[in-house]
Amino acid sequence: MIQESENNRIPRPPVVVVLGHIDHGKSTLLDTIRKSNVAENEAGGITQEIGAYEVTHTASSGKTHPIVFLDTPGHAAFQAMREKGARVADIGVLVVAADDGVKPQTKEALSAIISAKIPYIAVLNKIDKLGINIERARQSLLENEIYIEGYGGSIPCVLISAKTGEGVAELLDMIVLIAELENFTGDMSVPAEGIVIETKVDKKRGLSATLLIKNGSLVPGKYIVAGDAVSPGRIIENFLGKPVKEAHFSSPVRVTGWSSLPQVGLPFETFSLKKEAEEKALENAEAARDHNSASKEKSATVPPERIMIPLVVKVHVSGLLEAIKHELAKIETDQVGFKIVSEGIGTITERDVKTATGKKDTVIIGFSTGIDAPAKSLAERLAVPIEMFDIIYKLSEWFVAQVERHTPKIAVEEVLGKAKILRLFSHTKDKQIVGGRVVSGVIKTGAQVKIFRRDAEIGSGRIRELQREKNRTDEVSEGREFGTMIEAKIEIAEHDTIEAFTIKEQV
Ligand code: GDP
Repeated sequence: MIQESENNRIPRPPVVVVLGHIDHGKSTLLDTIRKSNVAENEAGGITQEIGAYEVTHTASSGKTHPIVFLDTPGHAAFQAMREKGARVADIGVLVVAADDGVKPQTKEALSAIISAKIPYIAVLNKIDKLGINIERARQSLLENEIYIEGYGGSIPCVLISAKTGEGVAELLDMIVLIAELENFTGDMSVPAEGIVIETKVDKKRGLSATLLIKNGSLVPGKYIVAGDAVSPGRIIENFLGKPVKEAHFSSPVRVTGWSSLPQVGLPFETFSLKKEAEEKALENAEAARDHNSASKEKSATVPPERIMIPLVVKVHVSGLLEAIKHELAKIETDQVGFKIVSEGIGTITERDVKTATGKKDTVIIGFSTGIDAPAKSLAERLAVPIEMFDIIYKLSEWFVAQVERHTPKIAVEEVLGKAKILRLFSHTKDKQIVGGRVVSGVIKTGAQVKIFRRDAEIGSGRIRELQREKNRTDEVSEGREFGTMIEAKIEIAEHDTIEAFTIKEQV
């Protein structure tokens, strides 16, 4: 593996996330920046393919600077990434409409930025509007502990109109300035690593994921691993959906062809060898399972907090809202409830989709109503689930299923059987081929095992292969002898006992 050396580090473009309250102008700002800064020939008529894009900003000095903007489902995706500890963005842009001031989602966005420990810029937007009182807007920032430059603090504050473009170049200058001060660097010579920022299931193309490369370079033919998902990385496209031969740090790329859909917010790594990649995926899967069962065990002793499923509900006539709330009240349990974050009459629109992105895992429910085309495509792009119903009992069934799905499960081990080790055949780094006899129950391929020496548990592993009389088998029962390949970090010895078990989830 190539070792990263300090000498190879060179400046890399900053990655910027735009956050703020709904309707304060985040999308308009991202559109304005994209339209005026993506090279003309590319911007002409293109639809952006993925949830991030690169711009080239020409500063007042004439120098050009690349900047990457995340255009993910705003706050919810950023939050998901932050919860997984991913430092996806380098700089935050907190958009506040000057005519509205700081609002609840502004505060949430601010605390997300602060806990991500990234520098940020406060942006007062919509300054083109008549009768705007900038002083009052600044006051609103100060009241919410956003201490801006010139008012006793150090947070840069830029006045803009995302609509007319006024002040946007100054905002980009400020981003470049912060990037220079913070000195973000990367190393092109190492294999790419970064974060999954978006995923998509495409009927024609299969599973794809947008990756933000935080360091290194990605070239085709490398195996990419995120969580337990692996991709041979054959199809790599840039943010315009064009195939590329190579991509470097700070670039968003879309990679199509995964063994399973990776989770948004997970880190990814790249490997030259398929075997290495698969081993890493297996390791990640086991680590995630251990983590889950540990937290589930914990939740068995501490009473868990009630899980609330957020909903945006749209109905045809208002009486239906009451009917739905009535159904919900019947189905909720002490452990799982529903929280209607927004409700309304009429078709599902883009606004509903945007509202849903404000809170993680929100589902949009449409009852006896329709969905307009822009809302549908936005929801697909942002992976916001929409469920449509016309019959109340179908809706109730769905609510019941959600309650069941979200009710915390407790992981318990179920012992399958025990076997005595009689012979050792071979041994490599973490794989050993041994022979033995089943003394009780059964042992199965794929089962996890605990290894005991003189009744003391000394380690664990997994049965990778089983043989009976030189033939492969999936299961060996009591009294029979077998040969097996066990993956384990510790060396198994003659007379050890292995206990095979599986993890079952219990409500
Ligand atoms: P988001 O929810 O934060 O993404 O907000 P949008 O970008 O969708 O903007 C919400 C509304 O505010 C839209 O009707 C925009 O046209 C309008 N808007 C956004 N920026 C400006 C601005 O600078 N000036 C004015 N007058 N309206 C704006």
